[in-house]
Amino acid sequence: MRTIIAANWKMNKTRTEAKATAHELASILGGAPDDRDVVVFAPFTALEATREGLDGAPGIFVGAQNMYPAESGAFTGEISPAMLREAGCTWVLTGHSERRHVLGESPDFVGKKTAFALEQGFSVILCIGETLAERKAGKLNSILWLQLERGLAGLGPNADYSRLAVAYEPVWAIGTGQTASDEDIRMVHTLVRELLSSLLGSNGIGIQILYGGSVKPDNAKAILSLDNVDGLLVGGASLQAQSFADIVRADLA
Ligand code: PEP
Repeated sequence: MRTIIAANWKMNKTRTEAKATAHELASILGGAPDDRDVVVFAPFTALEATREGLDGAPGIFVGAQNMYPAESGAFTGEISPAMLREAGCTWVLTGHSERRHVLGESPDFVGKKTAFALEQGFSVILCIGETLAERKAGKLNSILWLQLERGLAGLGPNADYSRLAVAYEPVWAIGTGQTASDEDIRMVHTLVRELLSSLLGSNGIGIQILYGGSVKPDNAKAILSLDNVDGLLVGGASLQAQSFADIVRADLA
């Protein structure tokens, strides 16, 4: 199974900044290490500049942090698959906790986006994760089940599961510096693997499960070594090329 290491730049970086960071990343890495895919989820306005900065570095892809589930139309402020493709984008992120909790996206809407992005030929990372209040209320399993069940509900029998990955991102660990413990990550990733098998049968077996939540160069290697951790989704520590490159290579030294 290939390891996916993804950067989520969120609402950071102008075109100029994105191009410079992408260029620096490509210079440090040369390309993605053999067994892994590296993805940079840049802001819409910086997608093309990010692609230019990467300058064809093999195995490093550009992704969008969102996509509307329609080909075109009266959806003010939204972005379409054709627009993203033209900008050189091949990956899409769905269900990030900031879109669920800050922008109010429902599990069903996330599911529509996930299915549509796959149908449109993108590789997709579907993010799931519980809030601290949900965890304290003993709702971890039911929340992850709901987010996965609705998030994958629109995938038809011909869906290409090889282009789908899931990122487990506990909301309380995102941007807080508070990483989930190794035991927690191992336990939840095993649970996510079981939920994927129940929902998708044999189609669920090869789906990569990424961890996200305050990943840094100094904890990336340990997290990648845990069972059922097939990659990382990195926010804050991906904004600087050197720090993200160190994470990409964390367990290869
Ligand atoms: C994220 O934005 O998906 C994320 C995990 O952020 P951070 O690494 O900053 O916690």
